[in-house]
Amino acid sequence: MRVFSAMSGSLPSLSIALALVALSPWPESSLVFAKAKDTSAKDTSAEDTSAEDTIAKDARLAGDRERTRFIADLSKKVDVQVFALGNPYRVIVDAADVSFQMPSGIGKEKRGLVTAFRYGLFAPGKSRIVLDMSGPFLIDRSFVLEPRDDQPARLVVDLVPTDEKTFLAKAQENKPRAVEKVSVPPPPRVRLQTSKPIVVLDPGHGGVDPGANSPNGVREKQVVLQFAKRLKEKLLATGRYEVFMTREDDTFLPLRERVAFAQEKAAGLFLSIHADYFPAEIDDARGATVYTLSEKASDAEARALATKENFSDAIAGVELPKDSDEVVTNILIDLAQRETNNRSVVFARSIVGELAAKSTLHTKQLRSAGFRVLKAPDVPSVLLELGFLSNAEDEKQLTSDAWRDRMAVSVTAAIDGYFAERIARAPF
Ligand code: ZN
Repeated sequence: MRVFSAMSGSLPSLSIALALVALSPWPESSLVFAKAKDTSAKDTSAEDTSAEDTIAKDARLAGDRERTRFIADLSKKVDVQVFALGNPYRVIVDAADVSFQMPSGIGKEKRGLVTAFRYGLFAPGKSRIVLDMSGPFLIDRSFVLEPRDDQPARLVVDLVPTDEKTFLAKAQENKPRAVEKVSVPPPPRVRLQTSKPIVVLDPGHGGVDPGANSPNGVREKQVVLQFAKRLKEKLLATGRYEVFMTREDDTFLPLRERVAFAQEKAAGLFLSIHADYFPAEIDDARGATVYTLSEKASDAEARALATKENFSDAIAGVELPKDSDEVVTNILIDLAQRETNNRSVVFARSIVGELAAKSTLHTKQLRSAGFRVLKAPDVPSVLLELGFLSNAEDEKQLTSDAWRDRMAVSVTAAIDGYFAERIARAPF
């Protein structure tokens, strides 16, 4: 049994784990969850289940602020890595090849030290559960129990409160090596003159990071992926472009890897695709909005949105690089990047022009802020919010095949317009 407990710094054997359960402040019966479940409500959208996969069938919280327990029911025992991340406070549980077939809607309830939890693919073959914590904490212990009698295998993580200083000391001491590794974008590839322009489409979020949710449970990560796939089809149908997507399925990808992907492909254009959310009681906003990168946000709404979108890595439990604050608040745009940025604005105008004629726009104004995903210094990059999942009309559109098709045609026209202008201006 390989249970890695970052906070306790020990590798408890099964017998110790069982002894700990016996000493647990909860009677064993409290670990057993009522099994009356409507299987039709299982959330199976995210994963393909192979025979090899461990299936996570349910999860729940127990306890209070003095001691909070997270429990997940598994089809069989699996090796897990459990560790803590700060800023914001999170518990990360990683395991290989776990399929999630949890009851829909779980993870939103607050209990004890945990404010919410979520789950999904973090990378191909790597599954992750992220618990959001209300403050500094210690992972008192974590273990996985073998299935017994009619009980499923169970992952158990016990959490206790601590002060920030202790949290930081322990987190540093026990951090798994893999977490510290920050991918460095590879140098841009030199592209052959004769090749077609390369367009990289970036469906936002994915896997463990669902993005925004509509009141009816429509997820941003799904609608943006569906739209990106349609847009890719339309672009390929013109015969004028090579098209790549940062993700083709329900897998998470950190923001800097999306940027690195565009650079690696030597993209002529990078389009990050999202869907926004405003609580209905605040604003009944609807329609598409187009954003570019800037050091200073164009307005408060753009600033708030960039903060929200930049939070994707934190949602998925990626430890942010040391320079992350600097990256967000003070993006130094050098000369090369300024030229790239000018091109980004030309492309953004082209999208607004197309959409203004045929679709609902939230605003015709170009907006800009410190979006981390738009930071490639050598790739013109634009972020398109397709609409608002908080708005009933927009939600209908975002899930409509006919709308998706029309929107993809408009964005293809905008990309055509951008490259036509580029070619007309290109020096010979
Ligand atoms: Zn988003």
